[in-house]
Amino acid sequence: MLETDLRAAIEGGQLFLHYQPQMTADGARVASVEALMRWMHPQLGLLMPHAFIGMAERCGLIIQLGAYALTQAARDSLRWPGLTVSVNVSPSQLHAGFADEAFEIIRRAGGDPRRIELEITENALMSDLDRGRDIVARARARGFRIALDDFGTGFSSLAYLRDLTIDKLKIDRSFVRETHLAQGAAIVHAIVALGRALGLKITAEGVETRDQQIFLKAAGCHFLQGFLFSRPVAAETIDAMLAAEAPARARA
Ligand code: C2E
Ligand code: MG
Ligand code: MG
Repeated sequence: MLETDLRAAIEGGQLFLHYQPQMTADGARVASVEALMRWMHPQLGLLMPHAFIGMAERCGLIIQLGAYALTQAARDSLRWPGLTVSVNVSPSQLHAGFADEAFEIIRRAGGDPRRIELEITENALMSDLDRGRDIVARARARGFRIALDDFGTGFSSLAYLRDLTIDKLKIDRSFVRETHLAQGAAIVHAIVALGRALGLKITAEGVETRDQQIFLKAAGCHFLQGFLFSRPVAAETIDAMLAAEAPARARA
């Protein structure tokens, strides 16, 4: 059964992280990387998150998975001194002691919370507004940055956004896919205007074409992430990408 397998996977080192760059809007430089979990299952082969994250949430193993992601991301962040590393956090990890626990995990791994960005979906925070606000405030007090992931797909009220002390909005891929249509373009413009008015950074997710990049850069997104620039890749490949742009970094 997959649940028993997942228990064994956590202990047996079958989980690992890939990283996808978030580029500056001109596509010239890696600004940060997002950790995305993978599972090399001994019989089924490579499994993507949709095959096991939901199940891990239902059976409680998400706590161990979350701790693994934070630990490994903190270790890998030591390879990339100038970069922020984003880690996805599931709604079921967000109990009152989350920020303190995450801080301890990062510290034990030798990392620095100020270099870690926690990606939380807006619905995870919206389900209990006061609790969400409290958890975010505690995490930021511990030095973490906070991004609202899949932004636009949930039900954030504008007042709620104003009260949350977050750092970044990530525009969901479903809107980026429709920027060639008037309505899709209008939604992206509205999110960027809102985010910028609140002093937030904005990343567009799922950027696959040059036309989308041109549109999103002109619309005012700070960062772009998607297959146009890179798929999620092993840490060693990120090393190589950074080495290749080293002269540009030195000039910047
Ligand atoms: P997400 O955080 O929104 O991550 C972005 C997803 O979009 C990733 O899928 C990435 O591979 C995919 N993607 C990026 N650029 C493109 C593009 O240009 N085109 C297309 N079609 N897709 C693109 P992935 O790796 O399968 O992860 C899916 C979701 O699983 C993530 O969505 C996140 O919600 C969740 N997840 C991944 N790793 C973890 C983890 O360590 N912990 C938790 N709790 N959730 C995770
Ligand atoms: Mg994410
Ligand atoms: Mg997302």
